[in-house]
Amino acid sequence: MFLIATMNKHKVEEIKRFLPDGVQVLSLDDFNLKVQPTEDGNTFVENALKKAIFYANLTRTQTIADDSGLMIDSLDGFPGVHSARFMEGQSYEEKMRFILRMLQGKSDRKARFVCVAAYHDPVEKLSLCCEGVVEGSIAEAIRGTSGFGYDPIFVPDGYEMTFGEMGEEKHKISHRYKAFSKLFEKLSAIISFK
Ligand code: IMP
Repeated sequence: MFLIATMNKHKVEEIKRFLPDGVQVLSLDDFNLKVQPTEDGNTFVENALKKAIFYANLTRTQTIADDSGLMIDSLDGFPGVHSARFMEGQSYEEKMRFILRMLQGKSDRKARFVCVAAYHDPVEKLSLCCEGVVEGSIAEAIRGTSGFGYDPIFVPDGYEMTFGEMGEEKHKISHRYKAFSKLFEKLSAIISFK
């Protein structure tokens, strides 16, 4: 039994798609948990591990967590680990418009989504984490309504659609798919999912 330790419902939905057969999961709601660790790490790895360890120790349950974000080359990796918190309180529409304004006139629109999937077992005191990256670029305009966050401005390499226009296809190529597939593959070598 794993706890999926994120308050982001979209992430929970996406992570559930990548679970190996037979894995049962719990959510933070099942523990009625409203507390959150401070995400003050400088890297996705630090923050993902922090979340997995924090919730695993609170619940005494094997826990998986996700820290992720969008990194834009010509903005020195911004918003990066601050993807969720930058312009806090404003809508993603506002945040995306801000990014599009920052990129106005720039020819380099290269960007990537990064996800670090972390696991912690509070009894064995074992932690693992795996990174997934999807390379792409920032679209000229907001396009599409599926997905969440910055999906409507991210065009993965090899496609013309944004993640926001893609629907199901996103989950075959995304940073989250890559990170969690690697994590579950590593875990399958050390624990039984049945
Ligand atoms: P955190 O991992 O809770 O710090 O938040 C990650 C933030 O990065 C999300 O709230 C989104 O803004 C952004 N992000 C991460 N993954 C995705 C994705 O798959 N699509 C769109 N935005 C994402």
